Amino acid sequence: MTTDYAFDRFLRYDELTSWLHDTAAAHPGLMTVESCGKSHLGRDLWVATITDTSTGAHDTKPAHWVDANIHAIEVTGGVAALHLIHHLVSGFGTDDRITEALRTRTFYVAPRVNPDGVEWVLADDPQFRRSSVRPWPWSDAHRAPGLHERDIDGNGKILSMRVPDPTGTWMVSPDEPRLMVRIPADGAPAGAQRYRMLYEGEIVEPDGFTVPLPSPPEGLDMNRNFPAGWGTTVHGSGDHPLSEPEIDGLVRAIVARRNICGYNAYHTSGGVLLRPSSVEPDSKLEPLDVFVWKELGKKGRELTGYTDHSVFEDFTFDPRETMSGAGDDWAYEHAGVYGWTTEFWDVIQKATGEKPSTHIWYVGPTDEQELAVYRWAMEHAPEGYYDWTPFQHPQLGPVEIGGWDEVFLWANTPGSLLLDEVRPHAEFAVYQALCSPRIEVLHTRAVALGGDSWRVEVGIANTGWLPTYVTVKASKNKIVLPLVAELSGATVVGGHARQELGQLGGRLDMRFAYGKNDGTPERVLATWVVQAPAGTEVTVSVRHQRAGHATAHIPLA
Ligand SMILES: [Zn+2]
Repeated sequence: MTTDYAFDRFLRYDELTSWLHDTAAAHPGLMTVESCGKSHLGRDLWVATITDTSTGAHDTKPAHWVDANIHAIEVTGGVAALHLIHHLVSGFGTDDRITEALRTRTFYVAPRVNPDGVEWVLADDPQFRRSSVRPWPWSDAHRAPGLHERDIDGNGKILSMRVPDPTGTWMVSPDEPRLMVRIPADGAPAGAQRYRMLYEGEIVEPDGFTVPLPSPPEGLDMNRNFPAGWGTTVHGSGDHPLSEPEIDGLVRAIVARRNICGYNAYHTSGGVLLRPSSVEPDSKLEPLDVFVWKELGKKGRELTGYTDHSVFEDFTFDPRETMSGAGDDWAYEHAGVYGWTTEFWDVIQKATGEKPSTHIWYVGPTDEQELAVYRWAMEHAPEGYYDWTPFQHPQLGPVEIGGWDEVFLWANTPGSLLLDEVRPHAEFAVYQALCSPRIEVLHTRAVALGGDSWRVEVGIANTGWLPTYVTVKASKNKIVLPLVAELSGATVVGGHARQELGQLGGRLDMRFAYGKNDGTPERVLATWVVQAPAGTEVTVSVRHQRAGHATAHIPLA
């Protein structure tokens, strides 16, 4: 059994597959696993469904969707997704909040959207790509002149090469002889040994003077392949929206699950909860939707210690060059739900206690931050830094290989700290699920009208926080079907058995009531006049695409 996995390392695909199926087998009635498609190389794309089926099938309850690892190297996200599954199935029956969440809601978790790319990252001879391993946009770019990253000294790691170079831009740190720092803008100190830094790899068609950095031969970014503002300014977005089988499978899986009310994609790094829009300021979005996002974000901050941000407002280096086609934007714009992108892990904050600038993605760490991370790493994860070791490079001559294990220290949480890093995020998922709308029947009555005639009343309420349509965006785009109540078991007279009852507000709507004057925006009373002999039992089935199903049995007496 692999179910004793302790979330302290990254599982290869076969192990992940076994873990999912073993965990499902150990929790019948609570968890199932299915494939929502095949990756470029033919691996199944797993989706786990977790709900208490004794209170209804998964698609009769509002649901929260979590996926991970669209981006290959961001393997901490996959661990968080597996931990969420574990948190739910192990908490059911012992933790009241989780039990309630699984009784009334469904979770869909796709822990490895991009199994091919992750398998390359975790291989004994690793290769790091942004996402898919499908060659793009060229089929022959592995022959492009220049540096191609690879583990050339056979230690299973892709590190850095420092190449002695009299005009190089790096020198040894005066504070720590194993670290490298940039030479000051006005020149190197007298006598400094200078280096050029390159990622470990080999040079195709070396010319003895220049080292071009060609785009990776597999240049896709599958988080730009969603049909949301697709391809406007970004590289790696693919041939057309949903051109990649992984994203096509993901989008179809979400669209087919019409009960989904929330979306969260797990990535690394930054220690932040990101939300749409990636392409527009908040002032261009629905004000109420921004309000809800900020409310959800407050709770996310409280539970996880991460900060919440609009990608456009806080994370865009150049507002003229925005990143379209991302999953969370698609979830909001097309599926009409609150999307989040969680960026796990911030080693600078871990080391310094301070949140680096949100532009760290573009400008990299300062020398001071890098030194702090180094000192922290020597104490907590010394495996994250390698000694500079001489190596006879086939094209560059004598170099040294070493430095940061960037992927497993900067971009991901070291194994010993993984569980602590991902643990709080499971509760944020539970919180988001419990905010969803939920249909319940709170009142039933049959009133005798004389003869065999009866008036049947069913009082329906949305007992969740969000309205049944979830977002204003979804409401305005008319993508959520109305509530339907349908009576059976007696002849309906003067009306229709099936009634469409529109949308219901949630407790959120009452927050905007003027003063303390709620009204009942979350309720509707459905009535029918029926004919049937006394003692007959009629059934009313209540169904909402997002807010779930409920059934009432009403005796005519
Ligand atoms: Zn990512």
